[in-house]
Amino acid sequence: MIDAAELMAMMTAHGIQIGHVPGGRPKITALDMAGAMGIAHVETRYQMLALAKYCLDDPAKHQAWSFWFQDRLAHYREQRAEWKRGQIDVLCSYTLEEATSANVCTRCDGVGSVLPGELRRECGRCRGTGKAYPGDSAMARLLGVDRRCLEKVWQPRIAECRRELQRWEYVALLGLATGLGWRH
Ligand SMILES: [Zn+2]
Repeated sequence: MIDAAELMAMMTAHGIQIGHVPGGRPKITALDMAGAMGIAHVETRYQMLALAKYCLDDPAKHQAWSFWFQDRLAHYREQRAEWKRGQIDVLCSYTLEEATSANVCTRCDGVGSVLPGELRRECGRCRGTGKAYPGDSAMARLLGVDRRCLEKVWQPRIAECRRELQRWEYVALLGLATGLGWRH
């Protein structure tokens, strides 16, 4: 029995290291991963995200982008949100890249928090996510907005996208663990 957090801890960018799982082979291939997620009936979009992230599978990443873009368009239309041409593309590309690459924050080493004396507090550079980000001005430039609009409109959208992609990954990993027979 294994939960998604444990499973996630075993993942590397080049496949899953399961050397310390009793009876496990040292490594699971992309094919094993796709097969296991298929057995567990994981939706294609979640599978593509997991394959893009853990198997560095570029075709899967393109597919994941396409699913993600459609998902976000539908979401913002439903919300009657406003955006300009190209901004959802930028949002999707940026958040998907962030979710699938190992761009680790250099200040906290990907932990998301720092230790000033006794108390752990959220890392200010990565805002607790452990990932390296483009700075606010680079992000504003990419989206073609000013800093105020970035703070007010786009940062909340980016945060929401992060949560949603984390959910996608979580669903994929739970399915993977189920398909591998690690949980029931
Ligand atoms: Zn950090």
